[in-house]
Amino acid sequence: MKEEILAKKILNWYDLNKRSLPWRKNVSQSKKHYHTLVSEFMLQQTQVVTVIPYFNRFINKIPNLKKLSTIQDMELIKLWEGLGYYSRARNLKKTAQIIITKHNGKIPNNYEDLISLPGIGNYTANAILAIAFNKSYIPLDGNIERVLKRYLYLKKDQEIQKKNLIQKKSIFGNSSRASDYAQALMELGAMICKPKNPECSGCPIPKNCRSYKKKDFDLAKVSKKNKEKYFILKVYKKNQKYLLVKNTKFNFLKNLVIFPMEELSKPKNFHENLNFKMSNMNMNIKIQYSKNVKGFSSSYWFDKRKLNNYMLPTFTKKVVKYLEKN
Ligand code: SF4
Repeated sequence: MKEEILAKKILNWYDLNKRSLPWRKNVSQSKKHYHTLVSEFMLQQTQVVTVIPYFNRFINKIPNLKKLSTIQDMELIKLWEGLGYYSRARNLKKTAQIIITKHNGKIPNNYEDLISLPGIGNYTANAILAIAFNKSYIPLDGNIERVLKRYLYLKKDQEIQKKNLIQKKSIFGNSSRASDYAQALMELGAMICKPKNPECSGCPIPKNCRSYKKKDFDLAKVSKKNKEKYFILKVYKKNQKYLLVKNTKFNFLKNLVIFPMEELSKPKNFHENLNFKMSNMNMNIKIQYSKNVKGFSSSYWFDKRKLNNYMLPTFTKKVVKYLEKN
């Protein structure tokens, strides 16, 4: 199928079927740019349905880049609490500050400037250029990747490598409605070409879809091994309170409040009490009760009965729950 016809079919379908999402509202250009920036940061690693209430709350409290650039860290993290991957929130604020000082308060509309901003990688830069600036970029997210793999029936290991998929996405061509087209492709993956049981009867492009012809919708994945990591987690308890520290040591949950921890490299006879999966890391945690509270620069005593009053990452809350049960 010719690229223009493919794009036309997908856009026609999108016009009739797109979801009404808060960042798709008709707003001024500058708001659209800002809303795209915020939603794209939130959508990194998080599903659309989860992001919606967070986005609405965020935009309500922080309606523009200027406000974002001066927001108190505590307030920012509170608005992000529950979304996880907090480095996104910190990077978003840093990005806002750089845009205010270096780019005259305007989100850059070119790839080089965008990619140099904190928290903006290849995918997010493509998404911002397409969605906010109507430029002919196709951001290869999980949804578009799935449509591409199925449409072309890409199964072999070298076929499904990112590098190859980036090349192959050119089959989608482009459209003068680049913003809508990028979102239409994402929407097609999210709503129709779903991971399990794609709804091909509602798909605008079944005719040339190789998976549809073969009636084989299984998706091949590049095997990615989770890293096994080992930690000693120290518990200091006084009356009803636990000692927690500000994490400046590990790259995960940076600057957030966690139990004091040490990482061990390949320990022998390690018997973990607790497992926690974070990003592509399997955390094996051994709990050690300690008494000698010394050597912590930023530490706090947290009352376990008032846990919900504090801004704590899910990880820390889960450890407290475990300690209270055991
Ligand atoms: S026809 Fe089916 S498998 Fe092919 S792209 Fe459409 S929904 Fe996906």
